[in-house]
Amino acid sequence: MDLTLSYETWEKAEKPVFSIDNETKGAFNVLSWAMEHYGDDIVYACSFGAESMPLIDLMMRVRSNVRLVFLDTGLHFKETHEVIQKVKDRYPGLEIQLMQPELTVEEQAEQYGENLWDRKPDQCCHLRKIVPLERALAGATAWISGLRRSQSPTRQFTQFINRDERFHSIKICPLIHWSWKDVWSYIKEHDLPYNILHDRGYPSIGCAPCTRPVAKGEDIRAGRWFGLQKTECGLHGGSPQKE
Ligand code: SF4
Repeated sequence: MDLTLSYETWEKAEKPVFSIDNETKGAFNVLSWAMEHYGDDIVYACSFGAESMPLIDLMMRVRSNVRLVFLDTGLHFKETHEVIQKVKDRYPGLEIQLMQPELTVEEQAEQYGENLWDRKPDQCCHLRKIVPLERALAGATAWISGLRRSQSPTRQFTQFINRDERFHSIKICPLIHWSWKDVWSYIKEHDLPYNILHDRGYPSIGCAPCTRPVAKGEDIRAGRWFGLQKTECGLHGGSPQKE
């Protein structure tokens, strides 16, 4: 009998319960369980945002050969690529796979018109993020995400382990109990690399055309898709809602 907790076995499989330690608020226990339970069938979809830094560090404490993918939309800030290099330098054994969309930015402009992100951002995210993540998750039973409950109302019911309806997978979210302050305390305490744009008013960093700095006191995600009726790229459309 297959005892793996998967999208298909969700109803019947036993769900682990994790203790919440003081240092990592359960994150280390969740990662240890996930890496052992899924072996090579787990992928970390890393944005290289602030939350990614403690997550990578904790993962490397559990196991050094983690499959990490980055959705390389072709529209990221150069500073984001710089922090990827810094992470590679810090963890030489870490393999980072850049997932590119089928179309280059120029090909997308030819087929769909210039600046699709301004006119149809959902379609742009679908082409440049969702389809590449579907490819990255093909064959994997579970994926890891750095979602935190306090990031936004749409994330407040996220659990450590979630049945992901969007990607027909299991989504592991070790940082659900972390605050923004917790993330930065860990980064500073462990002297981790981070995207320099965080020091320039960008708490949440996505593609350059859809990200602006925020003013002091503004919501940390206020700079994403500013002026558009959009708050999520669609990767977390299956986030749990209140029952
Ligand atoms: Fe396109 Fe903006 Fe989505 Fe990036 S964040 S894929 S530029 S709509």
